[in-house]
Amino acid sequence: MRILVDMDGVLADFERGFEEAWQTAYPDLPVVPAAERRHPLVQDEYPPELRGHVHTIFHAPGFFRALPPVPGGRAALEALWALGCDVRLCTTPLLDYRHCVVEKYEWVERELGPAWLDRLILTRDKTIIRADVLIDDRPQLNGSDVPTWEHILYDQPYNRADRSKRRLTWQTWREVLFSDGA
Ligand SMILES: [Mg+2]
Repeated sequence: MRILVDMDGVLADFERGFEEAWQTAYPDLPVVPAAERRHPLVQDEYPPELRGHVHTIFHAPGFFRALPPVPGGRAALEALWALGCDVRLCTTPLLDYRHCVVEKYEWVERELGPAWLDRLILTRDKTIIRADVLIDDRPQLNGSDVPTWEHILYDQPYNRADRSKRRLTWQTWREVLFSDGA
């Protein structure tokens, strides 16, 4: 079984990183707490006059490198690997790639270990990557192909309106992925 695992909002805690960076950069402006997020894209959570601030936060040098890991993510990847799954990291870099791309590699090396660098796929279109499963927090993933993978949502407050997909966390992945007894 080949499993694609998204990074932001799944392995890297984008929400916590964003909150902390926001509070440092704009201590006088309220941050939308992660638990209250309702939109998959953080920029949609803020009024138009603050969207430039949002953009500034996650385009800043060091933002992606500094993201804390989602607890249990590394252990789950290693367990899936040990079970014989072909696990790949599959992430969409910002089009403004200057810091994001290299920092994603740095993050993987630090948080998961250098062996995972060889398993990192950066793509703007996940639908063209062949796999059995994609674990991703974003409810809507568009691209040029009909995906071969089942999209399983990594459960987050901002994707709970989507009832059409199975969902998991790094606490429940075993039951969800292997519930058919495979
Ligand atoms: Mg994501």
